[in-house]
Amino acid sequence: MRNRLSYLLSRIFVGRCGFDDLSLFLMRAVPLPFLLSVILRKAAGGYFSMFFFSVSMVLFLWSLWRAFSTSLYSRKCENEHFLSSPIHQSVNGAMTRLSQSGHYRFFRCPGCRQWLRVPRGKGRIQIHCPHCGNSFIKKT
Ligand SMILES: [Zn+2]
Repeated sequence: MRNRLSYLLSRIFVGRCGFDDLSLFLMRAVPLPFLLSVILRKAAGGYFSMFFFSVSMVLFLWSLWRAFSTSLYSRKCENEHFLSSPIHQSVNGAMTRLSQSGHYRFFRCPGCRQWLRVPRGKGRIQIHCPHCGNSFIKKT
């Protein structure tokens, strides 16, 4: 049964783009405007709710459309453009810092604004930036 289901799923995506980074980003962004539409359902006669619900549906349908698209080259170009965009890099960096925040502290270098990672629980330490050579003291 499970093999048959995975076979059917794999057959669906033959010759199609599938869920690449941009499609997954769009799909993961859907809950935010959807929650805003629920929270703001009574504000301004429901227009805010309708707006945010429409945004969430556009993101959802755009993600599905990309996943089932057969224009592989166009979707690949869009995905590469997205991967090099500042939005992806800042969101990806924030998610990485959040996932590692249990073991590490993150500081921005005052000299070059580069993010630096140091182990937690080491007390007051001098942090040396490998990018610009600046040093500063922080409590970990
Ligand atoms: Zn620096």
